[in-house]
Amino acid sequence: MAIEFTQLDAGDIALIGIPFDHNSSFLAGAADAPLEIRQELHSPATNLYTEHGIDLGSSTIFKDLGDLEFVGPNKSLEQIRDLLNYILAWDARVISLGGDHSITYPIMQSFSKKYDDLTILQLDAHGDLYDELEGNRYSHACPFARIMEEKLVKRLVQVGIRSLTQHQRQQAEKFGVETIEMKDWSEQKIPDLKGPLYISLDMDVLDPAFAPGISHYVPGGFSTREVIRIIQNIDAPIVGADIVELNPKRDNHAVTAMTAAKLLKEITCRMIRQ
Ligand code: MN
Ligand code: MN
Repeated sequence: MAIEFTQLDAGDIALIGIPFDHNSSFLAGAADAPLEIRQELHSPATNLYTEHGIDLGSSTIFKDLGDLEFVGPNKSLEQIRDLLNYILAWDARVISLGGDHSITYPIMQSFSKKYDDLTILQLDAHGDLYDELEGNRYSHACPFARIMEEKLVKRLVQVGIRSLTQHQRQQAEKFGVETIEMKDWSEQKIPDLKGPLYISLDMDVLDPAFAPGISHYVPGGFSTREVIRIIQNIDAPIVGADIVELNPKRDNHAVTAMTAAKLLKEITCRMIRQ
């Protein structure tokens, strides 16, 4: 389903799919994720209620605009920015379904024009702070290096990280990134998050036992319940989110797609309740 450029109202939560995996360094497949997540979201196996009793099926502010259709590889980043600019111009909020993690960079280029004091909460097994990977500065291993060097956000808080190289540690220090590594994890470690807040949820933050449908397995991650608890305990106003790196080709009976749909519901619920 192509994007519908419908009218939005201030405060709406626009859902968009960004089926893009050209910047994946290891495996393709993340481009199929938006379709799979929508299928599980609307699966007759479950319902559209969040855990706090909000029925997204009858919500008037949660609006699915469809999937971005790419016209060609050279225009991709521009198309993502244009779509985000369109949605943000309505003072709406937005949840993007990736796609690989490279999409967060153009998304933040749009957000930075609207918000000058944005904090990103990045939930990820990886720092994604490489200056470049295999000659690609827009690789899904690099988005947060681009975001921080262009000063698109005020703060970057990373949670769940468990694969940092020496280079990425240096990058984190250089950019003043607040990295909470998995080895040091406790819920109390999350710093006070002031709004506006953007959540960038890489599905590989979950342990591969909970989310096998991803490209880069890093064992020793979160349970699904731990990630839900992090989301439900956020106080800061959430203005946007992305859910990235689901790779349906690696999934097992769509359990990871269903988990992504579940996390989408809980993030949306948090946005509606605030
Ligand atoms: Mn990532
Ligand atoms: Mn990752």
